[in-house]
Parts: sequence; C-alpha cells; structure tokens
Amino acid sequence: MSYQVLARKYRPQKFSEVIGQDHVTRTLKNAIEQQRIAHGYIFSGHRGIGKTTIARILAMALNCRKNDRPNPEPCGECESCTEIRAGGAVDVIEIDAATNRGIDEIRELREAARYRPARDRYKIYILDEAHQITDAAFNALLKTLEEPPPHIIFMMATTQPEDIPQTIRSRCQHFSFHAVRFDDIVGQLKAIAKHEKIAVEDDAVAVLAEAGDGSMRDALSIMDQAIAGNAVSATITAEQVRGLVGSVSSEILESLMNSVGKSSSQEVLQLIDKLVTEGQSPMHFVKQLVRFLRNAVVARVAGADSQLLQISQDERARVQRVANQFAEEDLTRFLNIALRTHDDLGYKQEQRFHLELGILKMVHAQRMLPLEELLSQQPIGSGGSRSTQTAAPSTSTRAAAPERTSVPERVASPSTPSAPSPFESDRARKGRSSVPEMSGGVVTALTESSAKSTAIATAAAVATAIAIADAADTNKQGSHVSSAESAPRTWGTRTDVENAEAKPSTRQIAPIVESDPSADVGTDQLRGAVIGALEDAGQGMLANMLDSSEWSLEGADLTIKVVQSAVMIDMSFGAEPKKMVNAAATKSAGRPIRVKVVSGGNPNAAPSQPAHRGTSRPSGSARSRAAEDPMVKYMQEKFGAEIRTVIDQQSKDQKD
Ligand SMILES: [Zn+2]
Repeated sequence: MSYQVLARKYRPQKFSEVIGQDHVTRTLKNAIEQQRIAHGYIFSGHRGIGKTTIARILAMALNCRKNDRPNPEPCGECESCTEIRAGGAVDVIEIDAATNRGIDEIRELREAARYRPARDRYKIYILDEAHQITDAAFNALLKTLEEPPPHIIFMMATTQPEDIPQTIRSRCQHFSFHAVRFDDIVGQLKAIAKHEKIAVEDDAVAVLAEAGDGSMRDALSIMDQAIAGNAVSATITAEQVRGLVGSVSSEILESLMNSVGKSSSQEVLQLIDKLVTEGQSPMHFVKQLVRFLRNAVVARVAGADSQLLQISQDERARVQRVANQFAEEDLTRFLNIALRTHDDLGYKQEQRFHLELGILKMVHAQRMLPLEELLSQQPIGSGGSRSTQTAAPSTSTRAAAPERTSVPERVASPSTPSAPSPFESDRARKGRSSVPEMSGGVVTALTESSAKSTAIATAAAVATAIAIADAADTNKQGSHVSSAESAPRTWGTRTDVENAEAKPSTRQIAPIVESDPSADVGTDQLRGAVIGALEDAGQGMLANMLDSSEWSLEGADLTIKVVQSAVMIDMSFGAEPKKMVNAAATKSAGRPIRVKVVSGGNPNAAPSQPAHRGTSRPSGSARSRAAEDPMVKYMQEKFGAEIRTVIDQQSKDQKD
C-alpha cells in the first residue's frame, strides 16, 4: 500500500476530532441539531488549520444517510459519508477557486445549481481559496445566493475573508478559525507518533509544533519529511527537525542576546560568522530572531507563563532569562531593529552585512539614553554642569518623562542646572572621558531609528511649544522678513524637524559643499539669507538650484555658479527673484551686493543637503530663525536632525 501523508491519513472525520476549533464545531453541531442550516458558509483563517476539513465534515453531516435528516456528527459509514471522504460524491463538488476563478466556471456552477441533487439531501459546493474568485464571478454567484434553491449550500474557505465582497459575506455565516494552540499541536503530534509507532524526542515535537506556527498541516508535513529521511525505527531528534526547517536552536538566539547584553560587538560578529559558515540564511535567521524577541517582549510584559507565548518549556525558560536581562523598552527597541533588518534583507544584496549591521545596532542601542532623560536635564547652555557625577547606568531606573509644558520655560530662562548633564551620564555609560564637547559635536552611538523618531517628534513638539509661548508675549507685527533685531526670540514659527541619516554617517557621507576656501567668509551667511528668502517666497526650486552650487564673493559681486545651463538660468531666475535675491544679500551683508548667477558649476558638488543647513542662517527668514533656536540646534547636534519644513505661524496669522 502506498504511503499516505500523515496530514491526510489523520484528517479528522468528525467534528469531535477537530482540534483547536471548538468554537466552530460546537456552533455547527448545534445548528444542525436545530435544523437551522444556512445556504452560505465562509470559513476563514490561516492555511492548514482545518477549514476544508470542517467544510467536508459539515458536508458529510448534512448529507449523512444514517437518519432521515442531517446528522450533527456524521456516521462515517453510510454511502454519502464514505463517498464524501473519498472525494467522489456526486453532490459535493469541491472547486479550487485559485484555478477556477473565472465567470465561466461560476456560470456553469449556477446552471448546475438549478438542478436537484442526484441522490443526496443537498448539493454542496466547497469553494477553496474563495478570495481568488473574480468580481464578475462573485456577481454571478451573488444571484444564486440572493435566492438560493433550497437544496443548495455554498461553503467558502479562504485565508482573506476581507477580499470577499460584502454583498456575499452578508449572505453567509462567517466562521473565523483560530490558529491551533501550541499545546494542542504538540498533543496531536504525540498521539499520531504513538499511533504510527514512531519514536520522537519531546524536543523534536516542540520544534515541529513551533515550525508549524499554528498550522497542524504544516507540522505534520515536516514530520512526514523527518520520518522519510530517517532510518526505520530510528528516533526523530530535535536536531534533525531543525536541520529540515533550517531553524537555529533557541540556545543560539539566547547566547546572541547575551552578547548584546554584554555590548560585545566582537562576540555577535563571531556568532554571525559561525551561522553563515554553517549555511544559515540571514533572512531566515532574522525571522527567528524576530520571533524570539517578540516572545521576550511578551515574557517581559506578561510573564513567561503567559498564554501569549506558544512555545516549548525549554524556550520559555530561555526567553525568560533574556527578558530578565533587559528593560521592556530595550527589548521593544531590539524587536524594532530586528524587524527593520528583516525588511532590509528582503531587497538588499549583501544580506550578511545587513544582518551584521542590524545586530550591531542592537549592541549600540544598549548604550543609548532615552530622550526623556536628556530632555529632563538642562541641555541648553549647561556648560557649568561638568560635574563628575555619574547617572545610574541601569536601564530600568530611568527618569520619567518631563511634562512637556515645562520645557519651553526651561529653555527660555537661563540655565540653572541641578541635575547631572545628560552628556555626562551618557559618557559615563560609555566609559568615555568627560571633555566638554557640548558644541563640538559629540558623535554618539545614537544610530537607532525609533528613538530618533521619538526624538524628532519631541523636538517638533518642543519647538511648537516655544512658538506658542513666544507668540503669547510678543506682538505679531514682525513679519517673516523682519529684521535681525527681532530675532531670535520673537518668532512665531512651528518647526517640523525631521531626521536625516544618523549623525555619524551624515558627517561622513554628505558632501560638504564649501565655496572656495579663500573666499569671503560671508558667503555662508549670504547663502543662508538668500536661500531663506527664496524659500519663504515659495521659490523652492530656485532655492534648491542655488543652494547646491558654488558661491563666491568678490567685493560687491556675489557669484553663484550653478550646474544648470544659461538658458535654464534665464528661465528660472526672473526679474522678481533677482530683485529679491539682491535685497536679501544686501540686507544680510549690510552693504550693497550684486548677485550674479552663472552657468558652469561642478555637478559633483550638488546636492549639498544637510551639510551646511546646520550652520546658521543669521537673519531674515523663518527658516533661519528656526535654525537659530537653541532647542533646534541642540536636536540637530544630538541627533543629526535636519530642518525640512518651517511653517511661519506669524505670517499665517496675519493672513487670517
Ligand atoms: Zn453517514
């Protein structure tokens, strides 16, 4: 007799044999008992959790001939039951919608549905992968469902119920299947192994169940493979199953996280090297790491015996040990990094390097300070707080976030630092020397993006708060082109600060466009004023063009050498912008300046991007005023943030 795969051999034949879907089987049995039979059923849920199995059992139950009415539990012996089980019943038609999704098939089905069943009580259509049916075909089907002949029943199995039109769904009873619980799968696998007289290690069963990921069928098909690859009567080991599914043991994942905990970049790189050498795919590995970290987060939040963890006892213990090592926010940060790394690997070439980068980010993230801690200290002008105090390095004893509303006050008033400087504690954590480098650019290990975006969001919030506070006590007379005297504290702007690349890389990568080094030092200042004025006037394209070019100042002549052709310059640099640019430059320099835009710039110099944006734009525009704000500067300094959009609330208010 030919070998029958386990999933088919042990396919449940009765409602009571189905595991993990009690909520469905109970309802269906009751419905049959009460003779309340619907004309359409939708069974939805992940693959391999028993949707078509239950559809068949329901078909058997409806057509079972043991009694003269549908039987709540099919007898399994009558002609109808055996034929349906074998897939040969005339009146139970299974259609794979993935291949028969067109309108013709459904029309045919509609035609056939008009006729009474050949022998059985009901004519039953089981549509597998029903979400694949085309809209036109669904419309055709809808006609039948609207006025169904009494002998017709449709059962639709689908992994994506939301793709089934609402008009169809509302005419069907919808059953949503659950993923089969880990323990249920383990139990079932053990029972089957016993029945088959196959020896399986307990660990191996756990790995099988994990690999099944809620799907009984998947777990069984891996077990099939393990049996096939094994010598007769040999025991199936966990190692063997891992080899089949290509998973690493949770022991390796635990030791990886231990190395991260120790901040040992060297250890993690060695571990990755070992895995890659063994032929482990980076993609697959990260997937397992994501799973492991997710479980660690759950263990941290809900405890290791939580029902949310569908894992073996052994892994539960490992996950708990890892969870105990880190704070919840660290773990979520790791999970975030792992997920991003997973995304990255999907379309990147050098998978190994991305994997290494991702894991190193975790090591670095370990050393990060939460933004709340930074903001709760006094960042601006805290030059006096170079005390040698060290903040508690423990990740779990971090300071609570400060009230947002208190921030502007603190920023606006002169510094009165009482707590240790955040930089101090940052350095203390990293074991660095405490050289004052507030404005010198501390290249921190802040490469992790989630914290960065929180930082940015907070920066924006802080800036907004400042704006509101300022707007309250200054008159609104100063427009956005107000003179430098009114700056820096009278602006009513909202600043949206968005993050650029992480700071260290920005510094290395971004081409710093400097004008001729021997040129007047004032070009940066002029550039700031001119670009700012153009941007404020909505001349973004022109601003961009000039910004990414070479500037030089000789006497009263400011020459801007752009990449674009002379024709292009004529087209975009009209009389109005010319006047504006001259005025802005003149005002900024405090003496008459003539601006000339000429062709012939170096294309490699462009685009300049954030390199000089961080430098001050001393007067005039809202952008320059925003750039001058100490809080914004601080954010740029600390996180490599870049100012993208500045909305001038003052000029807005005036328009209103
Ligand atoms: Zn029967």
